[in-house]
Amino acid sequence: MTAAATATHCPYCALQCAMTLTPAPGADPDLPSAPARPAVAPRAFPTNRGGLCQKGWTSAQLLDSPERLTTPLVRETAGGPLRAAGWDEALDLVARRFAALRERRGADAVAAFGSGGLTNEKAYALGKFARVALGTSQIDYNGRFCMSSAAAAGTRAFGLDRGLPFPVTDLDDSGALVLVGANPAETMPPLMGHLDPARLIVVDPRRTATAQVALEGGGLHLQPAPGTDLALALGLLHVALVEGCLDTPQRTAYREERTVGWEGVRQCAARWWPERTERLTGVAAADLRRAAAALARAPRAHILTGRGAEQHSKGVDTVSAWIDLALALGLPGTPGSGYGCLTGQGNGQGGREHGQKADQLPGYRHIEDPAARAHVAEVWGVPAASLPGAGRSAWELLDALGTPDGPAALLVMGSNPVVSAPRARRVVERLRSLDLLVVADFLRSETAELADVVLPVAMWAEESGTMTNLEGRILRRRAVQCPPPGVRTDLEVLHGLAVRLGRSGHEFPTDPAAVLDELRRASAGGTADYAGAAPELLDAERPVYWPVPAAPPGAGVPEPTGAVGTPRLFLDRFAHPDGRARFLPVEHRDAAELPDAAHPLYATTGRQLQHYQSGAQTRRVPELAAAAPGPYVEVHPDTARRAGLADGDTARVVSRRGAVLARTRCVAGLRPDTVFLPFHFPGDGAANVLTNPALDPVSRMPEFKLSAVRLERADGG
Ligand code: SF4
Repeated sequence: MTAAATATHCPYCALQCAMTLTPAPGADPDLPSAPARPAVAPRAFPTNRGGLCQKGWTSAQLLDSPERLTTPLVRETAGGPLRAAGWDEALDLVARRFAALRERRGADAVAAFGSGGLTNEKAYALGKFARVALGTSQIDYNGRFCMSSAAAAGTRAFGLDRGLPFPVTDLDDSGALVLVGANPAETMPPLMGHLDPARLIVVDPRRTATAQVALEGGGLHLQPAPGTDLALALGLLHVALVEGCLDTPQRTAYREERTVGWEGVRQCAARWWPERTERLTGVAAADLRRAAAALARAPRAHILTGRGAEQHSKGVDTVSAWIDLALALGLPGTPGSGYGCLTGQGNGQGGREHGQKADQLPGYRHIEDPAARAHVAEVWGVPAASLPGAGRSAWELLDALGTPDGPAALLVMGSNPVVSAPRARRVVERLRSLDLLVVADFLRSETAELADVVLPVAMWAEESGTMTNLEGRILRRRAVQCPPPGVRTDLEVLHGLAVRLGRSGHEFPTDPAAVLDELRRASAGGTADYAGAAPELLDAERPVYWPVPAAPPGAGVPEPTGAVGTPRLFLDRFAHPDGRARFLPVEHRDAAELPDAAHPLYATTGRQLQHYQSGAQTRRVPELAAAAPGPYVEVHPDTARRAGLADGDTARVVSRRGAVLARTRCVAGLRPDTVFLPFHFPGDGAANVLTNPALDPVSRMPEFKLSAVRLERADGG
C-alpha cells in the first residue's frame, strides 16, 4: 500500500512554502520507531506556486540523521562530558535547580530564550511557562535579532505591525518595487516569481543575486555605503518632492485625509538634495533621480525592507524613513500598493505575537498595559498582579547572564545564540558562567555543546501546530510520523518542568490543539487576534489572516471560499485611534562605530542560499554542506589586492571585538569599502565574533550590519 502524502509546510523561512511529505515505506505514523525520512514534494500554494528552494527540497534529510539526539544528556561537573540520562532524572534536576535559584535569588534568576522558529503553540506555551511557572520577567527570543526594528517602526507609523500587510500575490502587479536590504533570490527564492525584474529597485551595498536579477532584467541597483539607507530614503523623498511628484490630487488628498505629520518630514527631506545624498551614500545623483522617477510614476508600487536596513543601531529610524517615503507616495493602505517587511525566520511573524518577547503578552499586547494583564491573567487563571513586568531584551539578557544582577540559569528553546547572537565570544563567556544552562534541541548545536542539560525534542514533521507566514497567514503544520523513541515534544518538556515546579498539568497541555484553543482565547481582542482561527478552517487550508476575531454568535460557518480574517490591512483606516498613519521626521546619524585607520572597512553580514540562520540544521545536510562548506569573506578585488590577498586565500578579518578566518572570495560587484561575511558558521569563521552589539534605542536591535574591520593575510605575510 502506498502511504498517503500529507500537506504541510517547509520548516525553514518565513515564506513557509507548501509541500507534501510522504512517509517512508513501512513507517507507521502512529508508532514511535527508528527515525525515517519521508519524501518531499512541492505543492501548489499562492506564495511558492509549486516551487521550493534547495533548503526545502532537502529539509527531510535531518529527520533520520545519525546526529539526532534521542536521549537527555546531563553534565555532572563543569567542563566534564555530557552523559546520557533518563527523562525523569533530567527534568527533576532542571526543576530542582530552577526552584533553588528562584528561592535563593528571586524569580528573575532564571531566564528563558525562545525562537522565531517555534510554532505559535510553542511560542505561546514558552511565554506562559516563563511568566507563570518560573514567574520570571527574563524572557526574550532570537526574533529580537530579526524583525524588531521593522516591527517598532511599523507600530509607530500604522499603529500595528504585520510583516506584509497584504498577500504576497499583490506584488505580482507592482509597477515599482523597492527592496531595501533584502536578498530574496538567496533567502527565499520562490518569492522571486512574484517580482518583475524590470520593476525592481534593489538597495544593497552588495551586488547580491537579487540585485543581479534586477540589473539583468532592466531594473536598478543602488549601492549605498552601509549605514546610510536612512539618508537615501530622504534623498529619494527630496527628489520626488522637488520634481512635483507628490502634488497629484490623489497623493495630496491621501496625506491630508489619512496621515498626520507630513510637514515635519517634508522639512527633513528638503535638506537631502541629491548631491548631498550622493556625498554621504555614494549613490550617484543621476541614479537617485532615476529611482525616484520610477517609483513616483508607477501607478502601483511597494517598498519592502529586510535585515540590511533594519539591523542597525538606528534601524527603527531607518525603516521609518522608508515608511515616510511610502506614505508621501500614498502607498500604505492603498489597494495594490504598500509598505512591508520581509520577515526571515519560519515563524518570525507568529513568534512575535504570543508572548515570548520581553515586553509582550499574547495577542501582541503590551505587558505593562493593565487591561492586557487582566485579560491574559484571567485566561491563565492567575492574579494579574502575579505577572512579572517587562524584562531584558535579547542581547541585554545574554550579556547579563551569570553577572551578579543577571540570571544564573537559562532555558534555551529552538535557538543557537552561540552562532547567531552578536559579539559571539562574549556570549560564550556568559553562557559558560551560568549555574545552569538547559537547551532543548534535536541536534547538538553549538549552544547545546555548552549546556549542563540537553533535552532531545521532536522535529517539525513529527508534531503538529500552526505557523504564521510573512503575510500574517496562519498555516497548519502537520505531523507525518512519530518522534523517535526517547524524544519528547517541546510542549511535553514545558509540561514536565511546570508540573515539577508546582503548577498543575492542565495549565500546560501537551496537545497542540488544546494550546491553540487557549491561545485563541488569550489573543482575543488583541492586536494579533487569532480568536477566529478555528481548527476546521486551518485544516481545510482556508486562507486565514490575523486579525481574525471570533465570529459573532449565530454567524454560522464562513463562506466556503475566500479569505478569512484580514488579508489586507489599513484599506479604510490605520490602527491608531484616529485612523491615520503617522509620518515621523527622522535624521541620519552615524553608526555606533565607523571605519578608521586601524579598521578601515565596513563589514556586513547576511545569509547565503544553502543555509538557514545559524546553520545548525543546514550545515548537517550533505548537499547543502557540499555546496556551501564554510566561511568566506567577499572582498572587492582592489581591496583584496591592497591587503595582499588573492581569490581563495585565507583572510583574517579583525574587528574591535575579535578576529575570524575566512576564505577570500573576490567579487567585483561589492563596494570597495565593504566586505561581506555569511553568519551561518561557528568557530574560527563565526562572523558574529566581529559584530557590534550596539543597540537601537527603541527596538534593542544590535548593529549586525555594520562593524569596522581590517583585512589581513592569515599567514601574516
Ligand atoms: Fe523553505 Fe524558505 Fe526555501 Fe521556501 S524559500 S523552501 S520556505 S527555505
